Amino acid sequence: MATPGISTDVGGPHTFPHKLVTFRTKEMLQDLYVVKDPLGSGRFGKVYLVEEKTTGKKFAAKQCACRRPSQRKDFELEIEVMNELKHPKLLHLFDAFFGKNEVTLVLELVTGGELFDRIADDSFDLTEQLAVTYLRQICEAIAYMHSVNILHLDLKPENILCLSPDHLDLIKIIDFGFARRYTPNTPLKIMFGTPEFVAPEVVNFDPLGKGTDVWSIGVITYVLLSGLSPFMGDDEQETLSNVTSGEIDFDDECFDEVSQEAKDFIHKLLQPKERHRPTCLECLEHPWLYEMPRQNLDSHRKSLAVAIINLKKFVSRRKWMRSINAVRAMNRLQAGVKKQSSDDLTKNMSKLNAK
Ligand code: AMP
Repeated sequence: MATPGISTDVGGPHTFPHKLVTFRTKEMLQDLYVVKDPLGSGRFGKVYLVEEKTTGKKFAAKQCACRRPSQRKDFELEIEVMNELKHPKLLHLFDAFFGKNEVTLVLELVTGGELFDRIADDSFDLTEQLAVTYLRQICEAIAYMHSVNILHLDLKPENILCLSPDHLDLIKIIDFGFARRYTPNTPLKIMFGTPEFVAPEVVNFDPLGKGTDVWSIGVITYVLLSGLSPFMGDDEQETLSNVTSGEIDFDDECFDEVSQEAKDFIHKLLQPKERHRPTCLECLEHPWLYEMPRQNLDSHRKSLAVAIINLKKFVSRRKWMRSINAVRAMNRLQAGVKKQSSDDLTKNMSKLNAK
């Protein structure tokens, strides 16, 4: 295990030196790699384990449908962003292939599984100390992205993986499909994301900023420490309304086992106005992430028992929602509808705006 609260620079067992990737033709994919087991599925396609034929090295290959020029542009942007990002906590791109109807990204393999799946395992013991270790790494990674003026814009539990079964305390952030370049003084507006984790400015179609990612980190922290989703409503529309109202509380009994510093951290990150939120570097200096780990408190090493029970329910609910969304996305693709997130907000925005 790493020193509490201090992340190491371990890139992972399957990491490789950063390289600049350009698209190659799909035919070359079969010449160069053997496709093995499925690893998971996401918004736009499936992820497989692949082996490079010449070296035997293992990678994760993400295959996505890509039928229209606009979709190809999106993938070009994703590659451009990944080419620019060099950080041990951010997933690296190794190769990319473009076919008539699909794109395959060959990515660094991460074998520890999704962070929240691991936490929900019976053998896992979640403590506030460990939560701090995760949050420090997330803030370090996103502070780096922000330092090169790139916003992630899709931070959520599914996009945080554990490095390997031997390094469940170390994480990698994946999925740069929604990442965008941030140019100060040039308004950036988008309408995508996952309702439970998007900031009010996304729902309101207001200009985004670095604080938009900080909000999502605040939501992830709330869920991690309690197993409860702070803005979750009975349906997407209610969830989005809850996000715009921005009200959170720590009334549930699960927060009895959480420190005041942690609650203060969440409260600061979930400020309704983007400009009122701390930067990721300021987050790293917050007492919860900076001072408490150095105090080595007993209370910090106690199991978050109620949160763990809640987290198991949270993980199964998210999995169920993702499978429903995957079916919807497939139907949309088959119907030739424009590339959209399965958690797409557009419809909900118009419903909200019409209210
Ligand atoms: P994505 O489409 O990027 O959201 O990925 C969908 C799922 O595939 C993730 O939630 C992971 O479970 C798995 N996955 C994605 N990328 C990797 C990777 N580089 N290594 C291992 N598993 C991955």
